[in-house]
Amino acid sequence: MATQRRNPLTGEWIIVSPHRISRPWGGEKSSSTGQGFTKVSSYLSPGAARSNGSVNPLYTSTFVFPNDFSALVQATPGEEPGTEPGEEPGTEPEDELFQSEPAGGECHVMCFSPHSHLSLPLMRHEDILSVIREWIRLSDQLKYNLYVQIFENKGAMVGCSNSHPHCQIWSSSFLPYLISLEDSHQREYFSKHNSPLLVKYLEKEMRCKKRVVEESEYWVALVPYWAKWPFELLLLPTRHVTKLRDLTEEEVLDLSSTMKRYLTRYDNLFECSFPYSMGWHEAPNTASDCSHWQLHAHYYPPLLRTATVKKHIAGYEMLAQCQRDLTAEDAAQRLKDCDALVHFTQRNID
Ligand code: ZN
Repeated sequence: MATQRRNPLTGEWIIVSPHRISRPWGGEKSSSTGQGFTKVSSYLSPGAARSNGSVNPLYTSTFVFPNDFSALVQATPGEEPGTEPGEEPGTEPEDELFQSEPAGGECHVMCFSPHSHLSLPLMRHEDILSVIREWIRLSDQLKYNLYVQIFENKGAMVGCSNSHPHCQIWSSSFLPYLISLEDSHQREYFSKHNSPLLVKYLEKEMRCKKRVVEESEYWVALVPYWAKWPFELLLLPTRHVTKLRDLTEEEVLDLSSTMKRYLTRYDNLFECSFPYSMGWHEAPNTASDCSHWQLHAHYYPPLLRTATVKKHIAGYEMLAQCQRDLTAEDAAQRLKDCDALVHFTQRNID
């Protein structure tokens, strides 16, 4: 029988139907995972010219630059950013059915390294560490904006237009919708239980560990009970932390090796460069107390059963409610069964 599980961060319910996993598959098989390890030249490479004429420096570590096609732009005094918010023709002023507000901010791109073919699980610990330190620096530097969203779109399957390993940092003058939803659910839980929701959740998960994939002294990566994506992961620190900049040196060092391990498991699962959208969720930069918030990162990979079959959010899922076939517990077990130390492309290298 199918069941439903609730995501306490958003209030969303997910249908779990494990009896459907064995159904025959006659649908699309994507060929676009593109093993992802070929050396291709990219406009993100050192010394390459980008479409707006800028030439990248000969960078040797991470490289950050403003997005040439920013979705958000900073407001200048006396001018609203982007489209003029205002009255819609044919409506009353401040009509509740036609609301709009200014959406200011800025977008940056960060290349992880000069090497176009090295994704995070193939990078050296010290190079992954440079990426983490840059995340922390940017999150701190952009804190004058209400919210800083760091995210990585990896692979053509999730719409990533450039295979050079990189992430984006969008900071906004407003609280994005999903962050606002997670903020209010965590706030509500905290006021009721006097404990941060995700701190309590991890405590309970660690009693049985059946969804825990990777565990270290400072970090835990698990398939959340309410996972929507087949091999979704939630990364949590083992203590209460609200922002990336509050991590200790030990936690930062340990994050680099923990990330390398679960990302190696991801690539080894279907022996491909595992596509996903990931992002950090930090407490918003509000003046009010954020004790209810726990720092975390989400990984949403689209792959379902092989390197080419992806999950689609369509039909019933787009119109009514999300559903999954593979249980979170089975997904965690399959990831746990994968090698965390040796990447499949390096098995025969001495
Ligand atoms: Zn979140």
